[in-house]
Amino acid sequence: MIYEAIIGLEVHAQLLTDSKIFCGCSTKYGSPPNAQTCPVCLGMPGVLPVLNKKTVEYAVKMVLAVGGRINEESFFARKNYFYPDLPKGYQISQYEKPLAYGGFVEIDLSHGKPKVKRNKRIKIERIHLEEDAGKSIHIENKDSKTLVDMNRCGVPLMEIVSQPDLSSPEEAYLYLGKLKQLLEYLEICGCNMEQGNLRCDANVSVRPEGEKNLGIKTEVKNMNSFKGVEKALNYEIERQIDILKSGGRIKHETLLWDEEKEKVSFMRTKEVSPDYRYFPEPDLVKLVVKRDWIEKIKRTLPELPDHKKERFLKKYKIPEYDASVLTSSKNLADFYEEGLKFYSAPKILSNWIMGEVLRELREKRCEIGDLRIKPEDLAGLLMLVDDGIISGKIAKDVFKEMVDTGRKAKEIVKEKGLVQVTDKGQIEKVVEEVLKKNKENVNEYLSGKEKLFGFFIGEVMKKTKGKADPKLVNQILKEKLKR
Ligand code: ZN
Ligand code: MN
Repeated sequence: MIYEAIIGLEVHAQLLTDSKIFCGCSTKYGSPPNAQTCPVCLGMPGVLPVLNKKTVEYAVKMVLAVGGRINEESFFARKNYFYPDLPKGYQISQYEKPLAYGGFVEIDLSHGKPKVKRNKRIKIERIHLEEDAGKSIHIENKDSKTLVDMNRCGVPLMEIVSQPDLSSPEEAYLYLGKLKQLLEYLEICGCNMEQGNLRCDANVSVRPEGEKNLGIKTEVKNMNSFKGVEKALNYEIERQIDILKSGGRIKHETLLWDEEKEKVSFMRTKEVSPDYRYFPEPDLVKLVVKRDWIEKIKRTLPELPDHKKERFLKKYKIPEYDASVLTSSKNLADFYEEGLKFYSAPKILSNWIMGEVLRELREKRCEIGDLRIKPEDLAGLLMLVDDGIISGKIAKDVFKEMVDTGRKAKEIVKEKGLVQVTDKGQIEKVVEEVLKKNKENVNEYLSGKEKLFGFFIGEVMKKTKGKADPKLVNQILKEKLKR
């Protein structure tokens, strides 16, 4: 029997506001424990929460970006449960009427092969606002203890709940990537999964293919990287299929993903799961979001990734794959367009960004803004190649140095004497030397071993330290090696 998986994701995104959602405390990450707290976020008796308007503005941006419907009136509710990092004994969240319903994001399942274009819409169920809880830090040694840090209490969260539209771990991975891309474009979330800016829980069930009814689902928590989400879902789907195949029954439970052991552990069964006793938050008035404010926010939205990609395709006539990669992050797209103000060959610049620039980012594990090269400097380097002043190969070395030192291409080329040799006579001399030194190879070549041509080119380039114009070397070698 073939089984299919049904996955829905609940994503929590910390909003990048300076202060918390219901008090004025800072949201800065990494401060000393409990340094960013006040009576409100510590849940002292008698305090009153005041909603931070910016958090609503940011959430509205996301709703607009996914095409959701904003409720003109929504309500905050108390979600009651006891946990040491939740000093009030409840979380202020939204329950019955959230900020927004609906909308969707589109994921691209073509794996960079534009010919098999396959997009899938993942529908969004709801988007709401709530507050984050504090953090328990478990110290395990001979006198084990648990410490609690309340700095995170009251950090604004936007929860994005998808419909169960995802049918594989890969789709979940792509969907998360798409949300992250939108959040980054909108500049409303830091999106660092390791720092907990972006967190994801999954509802997973499986059923025999063709079956209409949903299977019993489990909830998987604690996945704190993109790859972790994919791995955890793969694991859980297989676990469920194995149980069903051996005639067992899935239990409705909550599971924790263990990144190190790459398996899940059981947190609690839902049969005895907490009843949150939701009720309307009496300390806050209803949240009213007026049409004209929404219109105002709409006007501040940046060009969104799908749009930008389409525009790049039309305007710069680059392949679909290039456009996807270049618009994958806003900073990369901006770098590309800024570069094109100084350099007029879109495909060549795209090749360099997708090749050399992205390689640097991977190696250095950083963002484009951290590299010491500016778009106009990269353009300057490419112009040196186009003008025949340096070879493409040398340009790659120069690029590396530019990235590390922040110096300009022209300076480096001049100082290191990297100017390409385009003097035919000079190259001819080197070619002759090489052929003289490798008489045996020449004879072999002449008797038909044509592969040796590359060897001669290599020797000439070596002798000229890569500076000889490859086109000229090619041409001269062909002339000299004529039978
Ligand atoms: Zn506070
Ligand atoms: Mn939540």
